Parts: sequence; structure tokens; C-alpha cells
Amino acid sequence: MADKLPAHAEIVVIGGGIIGCSTAYHLAKLGKRDVVLIERSKLGCGTTWHSAAMVRQLRSTNSLTQLAKYSSQLYQSLEAETGQSTGWMSCGSLSIATTPDRLTHIRRQASLAACLGIEVHEVDRAKVAELWPIARTDDIIAGVLSPSDGRVSPTDTLAALVKGARRAGVRFIEDTPVTGFEIANGRVKGVKTPAGRIGCDTVVMCAGLWSQALAKLAGVAAPLHACEHYALITKPFPGIYRSMPILGDHDSGLYIRDEAGGLMVGCFEPKATPVALSDLPADFSFGLLGENWDRFEPVMPGALHRIPGLETAEVRLLLNGPESFTLDNSFMMGEAPELRGFYLCCGMNSVGMASGGGAGRALAEWVVAGEPTMDLWAVDVRRFAGVRNNLRLLRERAPENLSQHYAIGYPGRTFDTGRNLRLTPLHGELAAQGAHFVERSGWERAAWFREPGRETAPELTFARPQWFDRVAAEHRAAREAVAVIDQSTLGKLLIQGRDAEAFLQRVCAADVAVPNGRVVYSPILNARGGYESDIVLMRVADDAYFMTTGTAQPTHDVDLLRRRMREDEFVTVTDMTSAYGVLSIVGPQSRALMRQLSPASFDNAQFPYLSHREIEVGGTVARAARISYAGELGWELYVSTEAALPLYRTILAEGAAHGLRNAGAFALDSLRLEKGFCAWGHEIGPDETPLEAGLGFAVKLKSGAHFVGRQALERQQASALKRRRVNILLTDPDVILLGTEPLVVNGEYVGQVMSTAYGHTVGGAVGIGFVRLTGAALSDALEGARWEVEVARKRHAVRASLRAFHDPAGLRPRMDG
Ligand SMILES: Cc1cc2nc3c(=O)[nH]c(=O)nc-3n(C[C@H](O)[C@H](O)[C@H](O)COP(=O)(O)OP(=O)(O)OC[C@H]3O[C@@H](n4cnc5c(N)ncnc54)[C@H](O)[C@@H]3O)c2cc1C
Repeated sequence: MADKLPAHAEIVVIGGGIIGCSTAYHLAKLGKRDVVLIERSKLGCGTTWHSAAMVRQLRSTNSLTQLAKYSSQLYQSLEAETGQSTGWMSCGSLSIATTPDRLTHIRRQASLAACLGIEVHEVDRAKVAELWPIARTDDIIAGVLSPSDGRVSPTDTLAALVKGARRAGVRFIEDTPVTGFEIANGRVKGVKTPAGRIGCDTVVMCAGLWSQALAKLAGVAAPLHACEHYALITKPFPGIYRSMPILGDHDSGLYIRDEAGGLMVGCFEPKATPVALSDLPADFSFGLLGENWDRFEPVMPGALHRIPGLETAEVRLLLNGPESFTLDNSFMMGEAPELRGFYLCCGMNSVGMASGGGAGRALAEWVVAGEPTMDLWAVDVRRFAGVRNNLRLLRERAPENLSQHYAIGYPGRTFDTGRNLRLTPLHGELAAQGAHFVERSGWERAAWFREPGRETAPELTFARPQWFDRVAAEHRAAREAVAVIDQSTLGKLLIQGRDAEAFLQRVCAADVAVPNGRVVYSPILNARGGYESDIVLMRVADDAYFMTTGTAQPTHDVDLLRRRMREDEFVTVTDMTSAYGVLSIVGPQSRALMRQLSPASFDNAQFPYLSHREIEVGGTVARAARISYAGELGWELYVSTEAALPLYRTILAEGAAHGLRNAGAFALDSLRLEKGFCAWGHEIGPDETPLEAGLGFAVKLKSGAHFVGRQALERQQASALKRRRVNILLTDPDVILLGTEPLVVNGEYVGQVMSTAYGHTVGGAVGIGFVRLTGAALSDALEGARWEVEVARKRHAVRASLRAFHDPAGLRPRMDG
């Protein structure tokens, strides 16, 4: 029975697909009763109804895998709770490899899955043939079987969630589109519909492919774009049995499963097609797009090759349904930074069913707590800068992400589309000098510099990469002479106002009550003591701080700081990222070069480590900070955007005599990982605390001053840590680490590597990982246990250490002279 439009509800959920229904269900579970879900047509009518609805649990990060694992549990338990079956089938999934690199890829995935508690087995060709008797197997090298993966009926799953939510009081209103929003004082206050308005405190927008346009009505960026998404469905034919494992033939861009006695052959075709909202009728409901055989044609040979019987099978339908994709192939969720009380979850990149149960729970928890309750950075809507909410960019990038869904995870892979849209002031000059760029948050970052005359893009491989020697030379310049690194993509914020110090003392875990001219490295923590950000502050005046943060973080950090401000606090935050270029001069010869470039003094007495000041340098004035992410003597120069290129040219010209070289982001990663320097969003995040990360020195626990996260850290100090950061070193030159590999101690999985790079000074792959061992167990393990890293199901000996492998006492950046 339809519910009536109320005048007010505490929470309005927009969109009755898997995401909206799961969120409404979980809001109810968390005790929220005054919840209304509003759907423009009928529940499930968008993308959800025609989903292949496979639930593969392994996702790109630990957190996202936990969400998918939870989805699987939820879908299995909903029937007992609601009496409505979800159609769950524990069929498992089977990925096959027909090339050596694919085998490496699926074995790497299998290692990660095993470490994250998902059952996996490698199977040989004969076993594949047994499981898939209708498949051609002579070209298969091996496969990986995940028996606990499964699939559901999407409409039954929706029905079960709706039943559970309704029972707990959630009201569902169909045939009522949201057409606008009421906003006052930066908060959403209501939604408008043709049938009237609903006043509310919170909106949760889960409007699928309509989300980008709908969010715009609220002034919110939700960068996603729909694409055509194909699956061929046949009539019954022989040899198919119910509950066959889902076959992943990813070298051919295909997944294949049984469907009512026939087959469903779904694809991620090499050239995908974007779908504009204007291409869909306004009343699109339980609709499909046209059967366009030309689009399916590129994958057809692969399908016929794998399942020869398809040649004579009768086609029931070439399903072409729209699904939305984002800029980076991960969905987005959270409270929009532009509008308080406006939450969203959308852009599911074809994993909305697998992620939906967990995503709905995580979003509901976020709404209730007012902040994420676990590390959701990989899907946090605040990772996208507003400038990226651009339809032209989305029309290019979304299809690329669909096409690359099954791409092999080679090191150094970057995007082909939507490039050259955010350039640093040095871009043209760096390109002229052979920079190879990779995309990061829309920015072009110089990753490494080619040999002169070598123009071609590097071949992607799991073997030693083509850039290895080039990065080695850049790395060595920074350790032995001097290197210049364009770090202009760093986020830069200005925090100003009478209460800036008091505000930052509360928000930052480090002591920021320092004199002007000092640099402070500080965590910003959540109430659980985990890192919400990891920043560097320069005090530039009694009432002003200049803050630097990661390239991906400005939107996130501005939002974080603003939401922690008290109404009566006199302080502002301004994103200054575009106002400055950043040139890092690093290496033992950096002091000599700085002396040549500037009349200022650069010895320890005049310009100590962790201090900053404005100096004349080259033909301009810049703020120089004596810090170095490379762990070397060095200065970061913050220079106005218009002067960055001239200064860079001067540095290059004068640096030659000191052995100066350009270095890129890959060299910087290798330098910082040898030093054990952590990066937020990579090794540390909302689920890691400074104590676990071994960075307790940066926290003002002894001072007695209050800061967010203090109580959690005190509790951690009083009890025992549950996890600990370790640095690892692998000296076998033939093993390439990518980050995410499992760490194994005495044969047991104990954690994961989070980031790695080849350490050209220490002569091996270095990485930072987290392990579940702490206290005496960790000390014992460090002294006597067998440490290994698992790469593609093979284990390799590594050294583990709490201290950095290079310059553990930190003497080099403090060097005098
Ligand atoms: C062919 C195909 C196969 C797939 N296979 C899988 C798979 O195997 N596994 C998997 O995990 N995922 C799969 N997916 C993806 C998955 O189906 C989607 O990610 C998921 O269904 C998206 O759910 P949603 O709730 O975000 O969007 P939708 O289901 O589209 O729901 C959004 C709802 O919002 C409503 N709405 C929009 N605008 C308004 C408005 N203004 N007011 C009110 N309501 C509004 C819409 O009517 C719609 O009902 C597949 C997708 C396709 C197309």
C-alpha cells in the first residue's frame, strides 16, 4: 500500500534502487524511524531491476571488501528476518587466465582475497572443464575459484530490504520525483515534488544515473555519467546446470553465468558508449536501451570462442541497460561538502549489488554519526574537486572506466582520457624535458623523466618497469647531489583569524602553538584516534597558518576543518592550491644551490630544520620551508603561480653546476618509503592511529591540551595496540611489489603491505605495511620470526623493521654546513 507524502520527515532518501533501499533499511536498523524513501517511478525501476546481481566480495581495498562481504552475509540472512527470499545462490566465482600476465593478476587477487578472509583455490584446466563443461578450455592456463561468492535476484533483494525497512517504520512513496530542494543557511531543509514538499533535516540522494543532474539542483557535485552496459541472454541450451560458478574470462572482457537454463554473457567491452540523460525518455522506468549488436560485436568472438555452443544458441535478449560510472572507477558516498545535511551514494561502477548491502550500512552509519565510522576514503565524495564535475570530462572518462573494469593491475597504469585538464605552472617545461605524466585527482604529475628522444609511452608489465633506471638516476641525484621536484599539486590552505591558533590546537593532534616561522607536522584525528588527515602547518602570522596537504585532499580537508569550527570561533579556511607552485630542492647539494639562488642564510643556525621564511630567490620572492618529504637536506619553495616557471628555469640553469636533475613522483615515493614516511590515504587513514603508525612523537599527549582523538589515544596507551606499522625490505630483484600484498609471519597472514617502491639506496623493494602483531609478539617476531610477503600466491622473504631502512635517526635533513 502506498504511503502518503508527509509534510515533514527527519530523513528523506531519494531513489528506490538497491542503494536507496539498503540505506533506508539500515537507517531503520540504527533506530531511525522517521524516514521516507521517495521514488520517481516504481521501486527498482532504474538500473537495479536488470542487474546481473553477482556478488563478488574481493574489492580494491580492505574496507570495500568488508562492505561486499557484509552484503553477501546480509543477502543470505534477509529471508530469515523478513520472510522474503533474496534469491541468494552460493554459486561461487571462477576467474580464468589465458595469458601469463592475467594469471599473475588473478593470483595477486587470490593472495589478497585469502589475506582478507575470502576462501580461494587455484584450479587447473581440468577442474575448469569439470565446472564449466560447455566451455572451451584448451587455452586456459589456470583459474581461481572463490566458492563463497554468489548472486541474488535484484528485485527479490529489493523486496526483502523494503519489507524489513517498512516493518521498522520507513515509508515508501512511489511515482513522485524530487524536482528541487529547499536550502537555508547552508543546510538542506526539504525536497520539492510535483505533489508538494517534504520538510526534512537530512536528504540521502541515491538516484543512480540521475544523481549528477539532481545533485546540481542542490549545488552539489556528484561526478558520474551513465554508459551502455551489455549482457547477452540466451534461451535454454544443453550442458548448463543451476548454480554454475560465475565464469570470469576477463582477457575477453566477459563474465558468463547461467540464467534460467540459458546463459547470460555480460561484457565490459573495449570501447564503451556514454549515455546522456537527454538520451533517455523522461519516464524511463524498467527500461532498456536499444539492442545495438555493433557494440557487442567486439566481444562476440571471445564469447563464441569460450562457449562454442553459443553459435547455435537462440538469443532471448541483448540486454543494454544504463549504469553509472565515475572518474576513478569507485563509487562515491558521504555528506556533500557543499551542503550540510545532503548525503549521497551513487556512481556504482557496476558493483552496486555487490557493494549495496555494505554501502547502505556504511552510509546509514555516516548519517547517524555525522561522520564516517570506518575508512571510506576510497569512495568518499570529497576526493573529487568541484572542477571535475564536468560533463565533457565525464563523457570521456566514464566509458574508459567501464572498458577498463577487468584491466590487469599493472604498475604505472594511468588514464588515457580526460587528460591535461589540471596543469601545474611548470607543465609545458617539464613535458619538454621528457616528463612522463600520470593523472592524480585530475592533475598531471610528472612521474619520471624519459631519456631525451624517447617519446613512446612505457609498456605495461609485471616485470621490471622501463622507467626503473630513469627513476634510479633521479633518486640518486636526490640522495647524492640535488634534485628539483614539482610538487605544485599539493593542496594548500590558508587558515586565518583571531581564533586560528585555538581552533587548530583543538583540531590538530600536534602542538601548533609555536612561534611564527615554525613548521609543524600534525595529524588531524577522528574521535577513534584515526587519521582524518596528515598535514604540515607553517605559522605565518599570529593569526594565520599556511597548511599543505595531499593532492587529493583539499576539498576533503576544507570540509573537515569547516565542520569542526564552532559558531563563535573567528577563523576562516581558504583553498589556496591554485595560488602557488611548489618546487622542492632536495639533496646534500641543495644548500649550495640555495646559496647561489638567494642572498638568505641557509645554515642550521639561521635556517633550522622545520622552519620557514620568505626569501628572495631567483628573480622573485618565495616562502622557503626547510622540510623534505624525501628525507634529505632540502627546501620547499612556495612561489606565486606566475613566478613558478621563471624560478624553475633559474633553478635549472644554476643547478647544473651542482649536479641538479629533475625528479618525478616515482622517485619521491621511493625516497620517502626508504625513510618510512607515511602518506595519508595510502598507508595511514581513518582506521590507523598515530600510535599504531609509530608516529606518536607528533602528538601532544604529554601536554594535557585537549584535541580531537585524545581520549581514544589515551585508551590505546592504557591498553594494548591492536595493529602496528612496520617497514619492509625485499631484496629479491625479480619480485615486483605493487602495494596491497599480504604479509606473512611464520606462515600466518598478519597484515598487508600498503605502499611500495623500489628503494634505490637500500637496494630492494621497500614498503610500509600494517600487521596485527603488537607488543611482545611483535618484538619476538621482529627478532626471530620468518617474515614473508605473498605475491601472486608465492611467498618471498622480507626484512621487517620498526625503524626506517635509510637514515633511521633522521640526521640527513638536519645536516649543517
Ligand atoms: C547489465 C548490468 C549488469 C550488472 N551486473 C551487476 C553485477 O553483477 N553485480 C553488481 O554488483 N552490480 C551489477 N550491475 C550494477 C548494479 O545493478 C547497479 O550498480 C545498481 O543497480 C545501481 O543501483 P542504484 O540504487 O545506485 O541505482 P538505481 O537502481 O538506478 O536506482 C536509482 C533510483 O533513483 C530513482 N530516481 C532518480 N531520480 C529521482 C528523483 N529525482 N526523484 C526520485 N527518485 C529518483 C530512479 O528512478 C531509480 O529507481 C549491473 C548493471 C547492469 C546495467
